[in-house]
Amino acid sequence: MAQEQWQQSLHDSIVSVEQLAGWFNIDPLPLAAVAARYPLRITPYYLGLIEQVGDPIWKQCVPDVLELADDGLVDPLAEEELSPVPTVIHRYPDRVIFYVSGSCSSYCRFCTRKRKVGCSDSSVSFRGLRDGIDYIAANSQIRDVIFSGGDPLLLPDSVLYDLLQRISAIPHVEIIRIGSRVPVTLPERITPQLCAMLKQFAPLYLNTHFNHPQELTRAAGEACGRLADAGIVLGNQTVLLKGVNDQPQIIAELFRGLLQLRVRPYYLHQMDLTRGTGHFRTPVATGLKIMHSLRGTISGLAIPNYVIDLPGGKGKVELLPNYVKKDGDKLLIKTSDGSVVEYPDLPESQLERDC
Ligand SMILES: *Cc1c(COP(=O)(O)O)cnc(C)c1O
Ligand code: SF4
Repeated sequence: MAQEQWQQSLHDSIVSVEQLAGWFNIDPLPLAAVAARYPLRITPYYLGLIEQVGDPIWKQCVPDVLELADDGLVDPLAEEELSPVPTVIHRYPDRVIFYVSGSCSSYCRFCTRKRKVGCSDSSVSFRGLRDGIDYIAANSQIRDVIFSGGDPLLLPDSVLYDLLQRISAIPHVEIIRIGSRVPVTLPERITPQLCAMLKQFAPLYLNTHFNHPQELTRAAGEACGRLADAGIVLGNQTVLLKGVNDQPQIIAELFRGLLQLRVRPYYLHQMDLTRGTGHFRTPVATGLKIMHSLRGTISGLAIPNYVIDLPGGKGKVELLPNYVKKDGDKLLIKTSDGSVVEYPDLPESQLERDC
């Protein structure tokens, strides 16, 4: 079968620090050890978004010696313990993550699963996929299947079609979601053929992963447009990253820009406590400050939930700035412009009767 353009792009990606040193004036030696431990891949397209060494695109994809610092962090989410079969993570009763691909178009230095994706033993076997499908088929409480990885859109169309068909044929599965960073790092993967194929599986939701306004290019916008035209509902999950997007103006510009691409901001993630990513962590107060700055200044449609995925597999919890203070039966509520408004609440004794 002829190689598609996007497969050629993957083939032409940078995968070694020596190649990187051919493009930028850097010393590859200290970075070689990092790339030996955590895989490196940068698509030609994403490489082209770097404007200068150390900029927000660079930080997301170029290895850093800080990844080898002993930050005392490990797999925080206990995903392995929540896996009834290796390709399924089942934490919530009604939905599962289906791990269908072990590789990504570019490897993010801050990735939660960096111990896993892109490593030599990360590829997903047909047997693993079959076990996942069997598990989902046998558990009738599963309504929502999230294709993840790695990046599901690195699978060839035919394999992806087969998986989507098998999962959507399970009577208790109501919706399918795909998590993919391809619109950000390999937009040429979003071909008209792919979109026509995905269109058959409505209701299909796709969450992508833009982190910085520099990623909101014309090519990315066109990729999202093709998906949206195919009826796929687009959302975005941003990770809050120190030195990349941890400022209110950057986040506001990103989220407003996403709405223009027909992508609805879904989550702003607090960094997970993953080994090798400590240098990207921000205090929770930074995220709260950003969330507070958004409310009242940009469209409510552009404002996602700020979530923290708790260690030990305890799941996601939404974090909110502290707007409400109780004062007897009254509530004192802080507005977006900082004033405090008194709200006459009903006494809590009415709670039981009403609910
Ligand atoms: C985040 C996550 C989900 C999806 O959660 P939603 O809040 O429904 O988007 C499902 N399973 C696992 C294990 C997750 O980490
Ligand atoms: S695309 Fe997602 S899974 Fe792949 S390296 Fe980036 S954060 Fe990790």
